[in-house]
Amino acid sequence: MFDTCEPGQLIDLMSAAARAEAIAIAQRLSAVASLYAHREREFADRRLWLCDATTACAAEVSAAQNISRARATGQVHAAVALHKRLPKVATVFVTGAIDFRMVLAILSRTENVDDELMPAVDEALAERVPTWMRLSKRKLYDRLDLWVAKFDEAGVRVPPVAKDNRYFDIEPHIPGLAFAGGVLDATDASALNQRLEALASDVCENDPRTKSQRRADACGVLGRGEGALECQCGSSECPASTVRESATKIVIHVLAEQATVDGTSDHPGYLSGFGILPAESVRELAPDAKIRPIAKPGSRAEDSYRPSTALADFVRWRDLTCRWPGCDAPVAECDIDHTVPWPFGATHASDLKAYCRTHHRLAGRRLSSRL
Ligand SMILES: [Zn+2]
Ligand SMILES: [Zn+2]
Repeated sequence: MFDTCEPGQLIDLMSAAARAEAIAIAQRLSAVASLYAHREREFADRRLWLCDATTACAAEVSAAQNISRARATGQVHAAVALHKRLPKVATVFVTGAIDFRMVLAILSRTENVDDELMPAVDEALAERVPTWMRLSKRKLYDRLDLWVAKFDEAGVRVPPVAKDNRYFDIEPHIPGLAFAGGVLDATDASALNQRLEALASDVCENDPRTKSQRRADACGVLGRGEGALECQCGSSECPASTVRESATKIVIHVLAEQATVDGTSDHPGYLSGFGILPAESVRELAPDAKIRPIAKPGSRAEDSYRPSTALADFVRWRDLTCRWPGCDAPVAECDIDHTVPWPFGATHASDLKAYCRTHHRLAGRRLSSRL
C-alpha cells in the first residue's frame, strides 16, 4: 500500500493514522454517551419499564456496531464514566492527543475516587496526560495513582477487601509440572522476588537454562531450604560452585515522605519495582526499617566522572526506573548515565539519569555513531 513512500512520509503517515484512530474512538464513545443520555431521560419519565437505560442503550450499540451484548455493555459503561466523571479528559481525547489505552487506564485508576472530588482530578489529569503517552503501563498507573492520591487519598486503589484476599496457591498443572501463583503483600513479594533473583543469578555463564527457568528452579531451592541453586554447566571447575547465595542480604527500599512516616500525612510511599505503597503500609514497616533521608544535591558539580554515593542515591530515588521512554527496569539494575558525556557534561543531578544496561549501551552507541 505504501511501498513507494519514503521513510519520512511513512513516519508522518503512521502518526497521522494513530491520531485519527484515537479521534474516531473518542467520537464513537461520545455518540454512545449521548445516546445513553437520551435513553436515561426517557426511562426516567416512564413509570413502568422492562429493562434499564444501560440495557436498552447496549442493545442499540450492539446492533449498530455488530458486536456482542457484553462488549456493547462494556462500551456503554466506559463511555458514560468518561463523559460524566471525566468530561475534560474526554475533550482532550477527541483531539487525538491521547489514545484509548490511556483513557482505559484513567478510568480504571480513578474508579474509587469520590464523585465530589472528580472535577479536580479530571482537570489535573486533562492538563497532564498528553505528556504521559510514552509511559509504560506500570509507570502510567503509578503516575495516575499519585495524582489521585493528591486529591483523594482514599481513592487510590488499595481496597481493604483486596488486601484480606491475599493467597498463594500451588496446584498440579500438566504431568510433571505444577502451577504456583497468588496475590501477596507487596513488601513480601519484593523480598521473594529479590531472593529468587539472587538464587537465579548464582550460576556461571555457561548454565544452559534461561533466567525464567532458573527463577522457577530457585523455588525448589527455597522449598528444600537449601542455600544455593546448583549450576548446570557440568564443569568441575565451575566458579559458581564456591559462591554461597545465603550470604545475599535482601533489602526492601521504600521511598516515603517524613510526614507519612510520622503519621501526619497519608501521602503514599513508593516500593521500588512495585509502585505505590499505601501510607498505612509505610507506617507498618517504619519501626523496623532503617530510615535514611535523601539529601538533595547542591548546585556545584562533582569533580569526578563517577558520582558520589550520595549523588547516585539521589538520582536513583528521583528516577525510580530506567528513564528510557517505556522502560520499567528498576533502578537496582540500572547504570547512571551522563546525558552530555563527561567531561563536557557535568557530574551533577541535572546531567545524570538512570539507564538500564540495554538502554545505556544503546545511548552510548547512538552517540558514537554520531561522532
Ligand atoms: Zn557453572
Ligand atoms: Zn531501559
